[in-house]
Amino acid sequence: MTKPSYRGRFAPSPTGELHLGTLLAATGSYLQARSQQGEWLMRIEDVDTTRRVPGAADALLRALEAFGFEWDGGEVYQSQRTELYKAALAILSEKDLIYPCTCSRKQLANETVYAGHCRHRHLPLREEYALRLRVEDRPINFDDAVIGPYRQNLDRECGDFVIKRKDGLFAYQLAVVVDDAEQGITEVVRGVDLLDSTPRQIYLQQQLGYVQPDYLHLPLLIDKHGQKLGKSTGAAALDLSQPVQHLHAALTLLDQQPPAELAKDDLNTLWQWAIENWDTRSIPVQNKVITQN
Ligand code: GLU
Ligand code: ZN
Repeated sequence: MTKPSYRGRFAPSPTGELHLGTLLAATGSYLQARSQQGEWLMRIEDVDTTRRVPGAADALLRALEAFGFEWDGGEVYQSQRTELYKAALAILSEKDLIYPCTCSRKQLANETVYAGHCRHRHLPLREEYALRLRVEDRPINFDDAVIGPYRQNLDRECGDFVIKRKDGLFAYQLAVVVDDAEQGITEVVRGVDLLDSTPRQIYLQQQLGYVQPDYLHLPLLIDKHGQKLGKSTGAAALDLSQPVQHLHAALTLLDQQPPAELAKDDLNTLWQWAIENWDTRSIPVQNKVITQN
């Protein structure tokens, strides 16, 4: 049997401008695919339509294009894939794995692990109730390409989790699992802030009978308080007229050690060097503290 060929993806939430943290994640995911002659797909994670910012997805895509990213096929938008999520929900429901939950955010405020308050209440299915997935008391293990072995017992460390919100929207955890499977993604490369979501996603894959992809979690850029740099921390939008400099900086932050002179070369030359020299063993495990200008 031949190994299925590599298919990766980048799945940004459309917050508009491109900042260095997003560039880092896009770069790692892109190089991991292109260095293996793999495909690289683009998925806009706008499942949470309450956070929709008009024009943000387009702005982000244009910015990625300015950096020379090329994706295979058209962009996929989660906001247009509700039918797929509904079908997955129906499978889980058929297996009696979901139940309605009426707990308010306030009630759960001091609870890091959902204690299963609504698990045995047998509430009727109502539009305005959230739906939770029953988890199991067993370890879920996987081997991350950067972090190494990781394990979580969902029952003890997470609890039954929401897959459909009370406002009717599907939760990220369900959408991402359905999309990765439906798009045939062989490896998920993304920021390490999603490492602890991975066991929930693997559990969902198991329940839905999907093939489990490989995982590679990239370091984050954090500020001196340990906060992930992003829109919420006021990260600066990258200047699209300086793609080579920024890409060079991203490669440096990924400890790929691009030669200094390439910072003054053209974008194609830098990409070519990056694809040829991409080395996942150099990717730092620790997040990178950077001071904002
Ligand atoms: N949409 C998520 C984000 O922008 C990434 C999800 C993923 O890669 O699985 O943080
Ligand atoms: Zn509840």
